[in-house]
Amino acid sequence: MQQWICNEPGVWVSQEAEMPSRTPGFSLLRVRNIGICGTDIHAFAGNQPFFSYPRILGHELAVEIVKSDTFEMGELATIIPYFNCTSCDACAAGKPNCCESLQVFGVHVDGGMREYIVVEDRYILPGKGLSADELALVEPLSIAAHGLRRAALKKGEKVLVMGAGPIGLFTILLAKIQGASVEVAEPNSSRLQFCLDHLGVTEGSSAAYSAVIDATGNLQAIESGFAKMSHGGKYVLIGLQKQAISFSHPEFHKREATLMSSRNATIEDFEYVMNLFRDKKIQAAPFISHRFSKNQVSGIFTKINEPTQQVIKSMIILAE
Ligand SMILES: [Zn+2]
Ligand SMILES: [Zn+2]
Repeated sequence: MQQWICNEPGVWVSQEAEMPSRTPGFSLLRVRNIGICGTDIHAFAGNQPFFSYPRILGHELAVEIVKSDTFEMGELATIIPYFNCTSCDACAAGKPNCCESLQVFGVHVDGGMREYIVVEDRYILPGKGLSADELALVEPLSIAAHGLRRAALKKGEKVLVMGAGPIGLFTILLAKIQGASVEVAEPNSSRLQFCLDHLGVTEGSSAAYSAVIDATGNLQAIESGFAKMSHGGKYVLIGLQKQAISFSHPEFHKREATLMSSRNATIEDFEYVMNLFRDKKIQAAPFISHRFSKNQVSGIFTKINEPTQQVIKSMIILAE
């Protein structure tokens, strides 16, 4: 089978590999769609923290069951790419998404940019009616869903989403479904325009918001978000960056504000998103801006980095 591997930053090779072998409790899966994420792009560029090479990237997957003791052959599925230990404090507390020794498929261990993979059954979620396009979007949508679950929005709550990359867009989409009154802050005019046209939100003003959600992962943006919280407000950081954050303690204190991080997602978030697709409350098509076939994979990172491309979400279709 063919696989694509990032040998070192900027070096991307296609190679032949042995078919992976399956053991009990694991399923052999054929990779159908692979969504390209900021993490993959940063890893290829060499600016992803805690990343080692060589690495097979890819964690936003739609797969087909090939051999399994648990699932039906031919069935489409997605995977929860966060491999947890099951025994640390976070796992014991029902928070496997922030397991102390978490291994993310395609980040800390080799991922899905190959024709076949073997994955433990407990990380496989059968699609039950979802398309391969939808299934490959479930993971990034679940990241947004998890951040919103941390925010615990009430109907009509005034929310500012900072950043309109895929995670920001998905956060806006789901916050609106949850009945929040959502505004967006995004300096890139074409990304902002997409939000105004397709998601029916308005641009953020100087108002105060009871929930501010960062999906930029940009230090300056994150630090500016503290002043945008109303008194009694909360701030959820979905985006991640490398540096220390500083903010005014008196300003934070007088608001009696709450600061939260949001890491990955749990099975509850995955199921929430899959049900939204089943109930036709969300659609995949508007968010998939670029499609690449198997023989276009080698040039993919140079292609999607061209600023003229206006990429929302790129997807590799490895098999149909
Ligand atoms: Zn991702
Ligand atoms: Zn754990």
